[in-house]
Amino acid sequence: AGTWKSERVIASRQGPHLLLAGGGAGIINFCANNYLGLSSHPEVIRAAVEALEKFGAGLSSVRFICGTQSIHKDLEEKIARFHQREDAILYASCFDANAGIFEALLTPEDAVLSDELNHASIIDGIRLCKANKYRYKHMDMQDLEAKLKEAQKHRLRLVATDGAFSMDGDIAPLREICQLAQKYDALVFIDECHATGFLGPNGRGTDELLGVMDKVTIINSTLGKALGGAAGGYTTGPKPLIDLLRQRSRPYLFSNSLPPAVVGCASKALDLLMESNAIAQSMAAKTQRFRSKMTAAGFTISGKDHPICPVMLGDARLASVMAEDMLNRGIYVIGFSYPVVPKGKARIRVQISAVHSDEDIDRCVEAFTEVGRKHGAL
Ligand code: PLP
Repeated sequence: AGTWKSERVIASRQGPHLLLAGGGAGIINFCANNYLGLSSHPEVIRAAVEALEKFGAGLSSVRFICGTQSIHKDLEEKIARFHQREDAILYASCFDANAGIFEALLTPEDAVLSDELNHASIIDGIRLCKANKYRYKHMDMQDLEAKLKEAQKHRLRLVATDGAFSMDGDIAPLREICQLAQKYDALVFIDECHATGFLGPNGRGTDELLGVMDKVTIINSTLGKALGGAAGGYTTGPKPLIDLLRQRSRPYLFSNSLPPAVVGCASKALDLLMESNAIAQSMAAKTQRFRSKMTAAGFTISGKDHPICPVMLGDARLASVMAEDMLNRGIYVIGFSYPVVPKGKARIRVQISAVHSDEDIDRCVEAFTEVGRKHGAL
């Protein structure tokens, strides 16, 4: 069906310019979640090397046996401070953080209300818990309200949503969600993997962008995208919740501690972001440049003001041949089609990074224009 996924092999560091195995050099990369360009930042790399030398390759242990080092505690404290929350807990990935939270928090007497387009890891985490499950239409507040009314019969209600949705680059209406949560006595959980570090005036995320930092109860996010890109995830929120997760969350209890080098990367990335919001702002300016030039060229770009810029094409084959042709012109982008996105909504997803130059962005727009004309998309 043309849906078999193959992996392109990169022979250099992650960054705006890549060397591909087998020869392709100077490829401009527009498909990493390296939103702030910190994956290969010299200070981030140096911090990893220092942590590796001082704390070793790894812990050979889970956290509660003998896998907690001072750097793990320091990073958890830093994450909580960054998000202005009481405490934080580290996981090997955000996939694990999402897999661990719902089961630990919710019982069969409770309810979880989930946006239908939430990330696969939220869906899997919800599958693992025994709470009553409600799925509301994507960002549809009428439907959420109807489901919240229905869920009044349960002991506790948790609304779960991605802060920014990775396939469409759209942002959850958190103000309205928080208002409804208040009205119907629910807690709000957000997955901030595509927001932490760059959305909002200080890069704190969707809750900062939409002015609801004091209304969202629980945040899960990743260290594997904007925050250095190595790996790791976390939950941050009220201290009693974090205490509960340390006792009961299975991916935390039964999986190895984060390696020191990975902790070193994330910790340095957070230092850089807490020192200044200049990196986050430079990414916003680049995003604006790409979105406005592509729209002027005649393309439809989904979402708004987010560095995920889906170039909507409709046809799956068109998305795939155009992405191939873009690579022939030195631009690395990926086409997405069904079942990753709905049928008839195939697209090429472009992701902007703070380390793209204006020239990189202009070259990308030029290549899209040429390739779009060639294949009848314009
Ligand atoms: N949540 C969202 C919205 C994601 O996009 C991803 C990664 O693709 C994850 C969770 C999982 O994050 P991690 O790579 O840290 O497991």
